[in-house]
Amino acid sequence: MKRLALLLVPALMGAANPPPITLAVDATDVAHGIVAVTETLPIDRAGPLTLRYPRWIPGTHRPSGPIARIAGLHFSQDGRTVSWQRDVEDPYSFHLNLRAATPLIIRFDYLSPTDVSQGDVTMTPAMTVLSWHTVSLYPAGGAVGDLRVQASAVFPAGWRSATALAPGLSGDRVAYPAVSYATLVDSPVLAARHMRSETLAPDIRLDIAADRPEQLAATPTQIALHRQMVAQALKIFGRPPFDHYDLLLWLSDTMDNQGLEHRRSSENGVPAGYFTQWPLMAARRNLLAHEFTHAWNGKYRRPADLTTTDYAQPMHGDLLWLYEGQTRFWDYVLQARSGLVSRQDTLDGLARIAAFYATAPAFDWRSIGDTTADVVMADTRGWPDYQGSSDYYEAGKLVWLEADQLIRDRTAGRRSLDDFARTFFAADGDPNHASPYARADVVAALGAVMPYDWDAFLRTHVEEPGRPPLGWIERGGYRLTFVAAPPLYWRSIEHRAGVIDLRHSIGLSIGSGGAVREVAWDGPAFRAGLAPGATLLRVGTRPYSDAALLAAIRRRRPVALTVRQLGMQRLVTIAWTGGLRYPTLVRAGPAPAGLDSMLEPR
Ligand SMILES: [Zn+2]
Repeated sequence: MKRLALLLVPALMGAANPPPITLAVDATDVAHGIVAVTETLPIDRAGPLTLRYPRWIPGTHRPSGPIARIAGLHFSQDGRTVSWQRDVEDPYSFHLNLRAATPLIIRFDYLSPTDVSQGDVTMTPAMTVLSWHTVSLYPAGGAVGDLRVQASAVFPAGWRSATALAPGLSGDRVAYPAVSYATLVDSPVLAARHMRSETLAPDIRLDIAADRPEQLAATPTQIALHRQMVAQALKIFGRPPFDHYDLLLWLSDTMDNQGLEHRRSSENGVPAGYFTQWPLMAARRNLLAHEFTHAWNGKYRRPADLTTTDYAQPMHGDLLWLYEGQTRFWDYVLQARSGLVSRQDTLDGLARIAAFYATAPAFDWRSIGDTTADVVMADTRGWPDYQGSSDYYEAGKLVWLEADQLIRDRTAGRRSLDDFARTFFAADGDPNHASPYARADVVAALGAVMPYDWDAFLRTHVEEPGRPPLGWIERGGYRLTFVAAPPLYWRSIEHRAGVIDLRHSIGLSIGSGGAVREVAWDGPAFRAGLAPGATLLRVGTRPYSDAALLAAIRRRRPVALTVRQLGMQRLVTIAWTGGLRYPTLVRAGPAPAGLDSMLEPR
């Protein structure tokens, strides 16, 4: 998008110490998913004013502000309507001409998605996550950190709520202290009928919401493992860059199941059975560690290109291989060191990523660094292993595994990426200050841990095309091999994705009802003519079922399938006779080695 050449300085900026903007949010209509907003801007002179709806949302790395979901927008002064015009180039900007130095009243409704087809569901009859950027406008022309906002919210009667704005559990009607607009946007509220809160460390809480009270039944052991995760993170990163922290966790099969990092809190959505179906949830137990790590890596230390002062300003994600890639490294390290996920399950998770990238042709034509552009490109991929798909996360993790094992190997185990973390992310004691960095700072910090040509390392593994590094496996004392039954961690990921994943045998992943989700590029199914979007109708002469397909593969004879694609039905034969195959990591020798030390609690 072209930037506006002319920025209109809002009238309210003229006052020396203007009263705060007040923002009153009514989130009681959970049946319709409607949030009613009344915002009052103090105005100290008449004239033109531009108001914006936040567009580039920190942590999403892209212009994700849901502008299309606001309706009923109305402005008034002294009880009289003020007309508005949307900017012709920027649909997130509204131009007004104020007739007097009297408060401007803004009213609109935020219509949250009532079905996944409309977007991420953030409000149900049982709970909601209130993201302030979805329910506020702000005057253009200044830094969002300089605006002050006093917000209040009303939730359905009897609900409880949690946010870093008011540490601990609050009720259904809360007036929050005035904070900067940037802090407000960085402090979402989790509210629900059923909530509990656990202290994980001094000033660090786990605030849990669930659809039903019995889903809140975390055992003391489960809570203790989350305490261990926080304790291990504090050992890695040292001094926290926050004064208090709330891990907001919701357990729901209808709400959005994702995470988003903030400075004093994080949003963490997991399935309803997170505590009550514990073994199956292994692949979800790195989420809290991931978002907590971001307090240091992403919120405090932040790529300079992502450090913006206005939500209209485009963010550049070219250093996301550190912001996200190394956070993915630490979330696996933390899940193992804390005991949230066993060492072997963690190794099986690493094996899965290694085996995928060993055969992903995307990196024959593009680099891991180039995939940082995927945050802005549409992220629906037909052929993710050939096109690439935000691989700065998982392939980025492999780059940091390579760096860690290289350092351990060449320093005889005396140093590791832990030493990088302790210095690079060392907090300066100011819970509001963010410390920007550039690529050269990363190279220098790695060099301080161990002299090496880190510039060439990053060029080779991040910035130039080429398969992601796998040298860390052998260096770390392990080898990648394949077994005929899916490891527990593999099954947990299949459960999470709702697929059976046969990538390393016939080269397919299949969702419910025989729907072909992914086809491994140039794999056996690909060569038989299958493409994503097909539906498997029959296995041989039997109607399709997952069990029938798995049995056919186990027979180690070519697999005959009847498929339908784009309305046409045909017979294909997949010439695969190798049986079922799933990747795992096994220790190459009898003694613990580099990967074992990396996963060892401290
Ligand atoms: Zn992340």
